[in-house]
Amino acid sequence: MSGRFAPSPTGDLHLGNLRTALLAWLAARSSGCSFLIRMEDLDLVTSSVEHERRQVADLTALGLDHDGDIVRQSERFDLYRSHIDRLAAAGRIYPCYCTRREIREEIEAAASAPHGLPDGAYPGICRDLTDDERDAREAAGRTPALRLRTDGQWLEFDDRVLGRVGGHVDDVVLARADGVPAYNLAVVVDDELQAIDQVVRGDDLASSTPRQLLLQRLLGFGAPEYQHVPLVLGPTGHRLAKRDGAVTLAELAAEGWTAAEALAVLARSVGLATATEPTPTVTTDRLIDRYDPSALPREPSAFADLVALRG
Ligand code: GLU
Repeated sequence: MSGRFAPSPTGDLHLGNLRTALLAWLAARSSGCSFLIRMEDLDLVTSSVEHERRQVADLTALGLDHDGDIVRQSERFDLYRSHIDRLAAAGRIYPCYCTRREIREEIEAAASAPHGLPDGAYPGICRDLTDDERDAREAAGRTPALRLRTDGQWLEFDDRVLGRVGGHVDDVVLARADGVPAYNLAVVVDDELQAIDQVVRGDDLASSTPRQLLLQRLLGFGAPEYQHVPLVLGPTGHRLAKRDGAVTLAELAAEGWTAAEALAVLARSVGLATATEPTPTVTTDRLIDRYDPSALPREPSAFADLVALRG
């Protein structure tokens, strides 16, 4: 049995990322799962081993240990491509020559999304191109992305935090035009090959889970258990970001915070410790028995409210 934390090593982890990591670790440790770290470094430009080193150091500082070697997606492109080939052989892939702008214009021109799909879903421009239409695009020097051919079907799953969740599946990109595999494909392949049973991640990814469920089915994989946990939001109501002030352990340390204080704040913010419980007694080991995904808040936390929990 395994759980995992899968950050992108593109900068230091902020308190929102660290809270997700804490909850993923607690989920794993409270259910007898090993806890793996996977670096989602598909974007070779923004990712670096230095960011990876600092992220792992921050996890360690909070008391979140991990099992086994760290897996890096950048070292597994061949694996992702072989799974894309399997989907292609099953007739589930089509090349898409659209630019972002063409897609945006098509969406704006249409009165509503096709098949009742969510806003922003790919409108299917390249879905049924004739050979001549494809040849014309190739001749114009366009390199295609690869998309999954779906029926816009509705898929549901039981989330241990959110309850029953459902969503339409759209023709998601599986490989970018420059050949880089896309997140949804890589995550499904890795969760299967790493034998992940438990996926704990931010609830902004709950809407991508139906896509991943479909990919799992098409590739003959089982589905892990899901726990989508609430995000920490910055002052403008967006997912917490670097620009929102002192949000990383290093930045908070410069303001006098200890790692133990950060851990206590994260635990208090999801009801795993009380506001009056002294910080030194809030240790990761003590939190394991208190972890219950169904008792987690479903609402996001404001960063300012988190900071106020320092006591
Ligand atoms: N790499 C994603 C992130 O940093 C997480 C993906 C996942 O857990 O499935 O938000």
